[in-house]
This record gives sequence, structure tokens and C-alpha cells, in this order.
Amino acid sequence: MLIGDAAGGVNVPKIKGVHQAIRSGMLAAEHLAETGSPEGFDALWRASAGGRELRAVRNFKPGFKRGLWWGLANSGLEVLTRGRTPWTLKNAVPDHQRLKHLSEYESPPRGWVERTLPPRDRLASVFFASTSHDEGQPAHLKVRDTSICTDRCAREFDNPCQRFCPANVYEIVEDSGRRRLQINAANCVHCKACDIKDPYGIIDWTPPEGGSGPNYQSL
Ligand SMILES: Cc1cc2nc3c(=O)[nH]c(=O)nc-3n(C[C@H](O)[C@H](O)[C@H](O)COP(=O)(O)OP(=O)(O)OC[C@H]3O[C@@H](n4cnc5c(N)ncnc54)[C@H](O)[C@@H]3O)c2cc1C
Ligand code: SF4
Repeated sequence: MLIGDAAGGVNVPKIKGVHQAIRSGMLAAEHLAETGSPEGFDALWRASAGGRELRAVRNFKPGFKRGLWWGLANSGLEVLTRGRTPWTLKNAVPDHQRLKHLSEYESPPRGWVERTLPPRDRLASVFFASTSHDEGQPAHLKVRDTSICTDRCAREFDNPCQRFCPANVYEIVEDSGRRRLQINAANCVHCKACDIKDPYGIIDWTPPEGGSGPNYQSL
């Protein structure tokens, strides 16, 4: 039985998922206690208040795959009809296959200015996350073939892991005249972006040892 976020339970337009995790967890527990089997839980969840809530918002996120304006217009329609549109849009292409090759992409002028307010860089943000790991634990980030990083990925995508990771975990460094991938796993804030967005699908995020990770204060 899949429940909570594992079952895609977040109400995306509201960015709320805690209530869905509780609802689905309670329903799953009741179902198991009553029937002694996971069979039938899927239909039960879909017919429940949590399942109906998700059905009403199913088209919001996939609508934005076709661009901002299309997504906004689609969102307006979905709000007006409360999700009663007769179609279900699909997330047809996985995120990691949507990156453009360097040869197809030209960076637009963004008008970036120097940032003066803190945090000024990603490592400062990692400091605010108070992330900590026992340095002796097995690596929780596994890159299946690091030769791709310095060769194919450098040529095709300019190592996007160096930019999409919010914690500067991945760095391409020079070592004795050769380039190699350095993984600063102790900085990881466990957002799982690398597992989802790496264009070759070769990064596996695994749960770290218990209690390791960010410890946000004053939230
Ligand atoms: C930045 C952010 C802000 C959010 N704000 C809100 C909000 O304001 N309101 C709201 O309702 N929702 C919010 N959400 C969504 C909400 O946090 C989630 O939907 C909800 O916490 C999901 O609960 P869960 O129990 O399904 O999963 P989780 O809370 O993710 O729990 C899963 C647990 O399983 C552990 N785990 C994973 N794999 C293994 C393994 N192999 N072995 C052992 N343990 C494992 C993980 O470490 C984790 O502790 C927010 C989410 C984010 C990221
Ligand atoms: S899970 Fe997030 S923070 Fe950790 S290495 Fe991957 S992208 Fe970086």
C-alpha cells in the first residue's frame, strides 16, 4: 500500500500534503485491520475525501509542462470547473529527459545583479539549514558511473548537477591534472533534486543514517 507523498498525495496548487499523509495513513491502517489484506485499498483511497481532493487538482501541474501561459490559463479553467474537465493531462516526459543539450540552448539575458542581502551564496544557505551528518557513515549519494560526468555530461550539459543542487554537493574539480566529480555529501539537504533531474538518471539518493540531514531552526 502506498500512502502520503509516496502515493503522490500532495495537493499541488495548495502545496499541502500533511493532511493527505495522515488521511491515507489512517485509511490504510483501518483497511488492514478490517480486511487483513492490502487488496482494495487503491479503490478505497480514490473514493475517499483525500482521493477526491486529488482528482479535482490533477491537471494543474501537468498544464505547466506546456509553458507558463498555457499553464496559467489551464489553472483558471480547472479552478472554475473545480476539476470537472473531462480530460486528465499527463506528465508524458520524465523531468530528467527535459534538459536541453548545450548545442540547443542559448542563455537569455537575465539582468542578474550582485546580491548584497544574506544569504549571498548556496553554502551560506546550507549553514542556515544546520545540516549535519556523521562523516563516517556510508555515502548516501550514489553515482553509478562517474566517468560520464567528466566526459559525456561535461560536453552535452556542462554538468548541471553543479547548478541544480541547492547545497553545492556536486563539484567538478581538478586533481593531478585530471577532472573528477567530488561529492560533498555532508552538505546534502535531502531535496532529492539530483535523483530526479540528472539527465542520465545515474544518481541515486538513498536515506542517510538516522537523524542526519537538515535541522531547520525557527521555522
Ligand atoms: C519545503 C516544503 C514545505 C511544505 N509545506 C507544507 C505545508 O505548509 N503544509 C502541508 O500540509 N504540507 C507541506 N509540505 C508537504 C508535506 O511536508 C508532505 O506532503 C508530508 O510531509 C508527507 O508526509 P509523508 O509521511 O508521506 O512523507 P515524509 O514526511 O517525507 O516521511 C517519509 C519518511 O520516510 C523516511 N524514509 C524514506 N525512505 C526510507 C527508507 N528506505 N527507510 C527508512 N526510512 C525512509 C524519510 O527519511 C522520511 O522521514 C511541504 C513540503 C516541503 C518539502
Ligand atoms: S538531494 Fe538535493 S541537496 Fe542532496 S545532493 Fe541531491 S540535489 Fe543536492
